[in-house]
Amino acid sequence: MLFTTSWDDGHVLDHKLIDLLKKYGMKGTFYISKEHELVHERLSEREIHDLAHEMECGAHTLTHPDLTSVTPDNARKEIADSKVWMESITQKTCDLFCYPRGRFNDVIKSMTKECGFRGARTTELYRFTLQDPFAMPVSLHIYPFPFRPIANRRFYEPFSMARAKLGSAIPLSRYTSWLSFAKALFDHAYQTNQPFFHLFGHSWEIEKFRMWDHLEKFLSYVASKKDLQHVPNSSLLRS
Ligand SMILES: [Zn+2]
Repeated sequence: MLFTTSWDDGHVLDHKLIDLLKKYGMKGTFYISKEHELVHERLSEREIHDLAHEMECGAHTLTHPDLTSVTPDNARKEIADSKVWMESITQKTCDLFCYPRGRFNDVIKSMTKECGFRGARTTELYRFTLQDPFAMPVSLHIYPFPFRPIANRRFYEPFSMARAKLGSAIPLSRYTSWLSFAKALFDHAYQTNQPFFHLFGHSWEIEKFRMWDHLEKFLSYVASKKDLQHVPNSSLLRS
């Protein structure tokens, strides 16, 4: 099975992710927008350049808009110019794109293809196979689980979404914490010989919700498994 990770937005705490991934011999793809409405402590262009020589970098628009709610001209510019921007910094071809907030439709997907990308990542969870390179799903989000840390009607969403998508594949007894669930989900993929497992997240979120310890324990658990290939996201396109 292939094991890959991806990390969005280009916060300075991505350095901590890079160190962790290197410690466990793993690969990551970092999707970085030029600007971001919420993420202000950003990697510099010099840091992105260096990052691209250790890990993989992907484009994530210029200003991180919901591409389905801006004009087609704006959407095309956001997508095309982010590829040019990333390539000018890294001096490498930028093959991968990531839709901000996971928002896309058929028009946005076609634009992404036309702009010369080879694939695009979404935020569709609990998937272990690739059907469409321009709707590349993920397996797991590092985010508070089983409940959202907010008191509104979306409080139960992580739990109910996982149950709806996974059915009885993961026993309820493993829904007690993110780490317990993450290990069970990984075991499920590993034991059923799925093509890949794809973990994604945001370093600023991991910090905000104090999940670094859970992340490291999970990576250490995965690193102990045999017959895993640690690859960047682009390897999934060839799998
Ligand atoms: Zn983002």
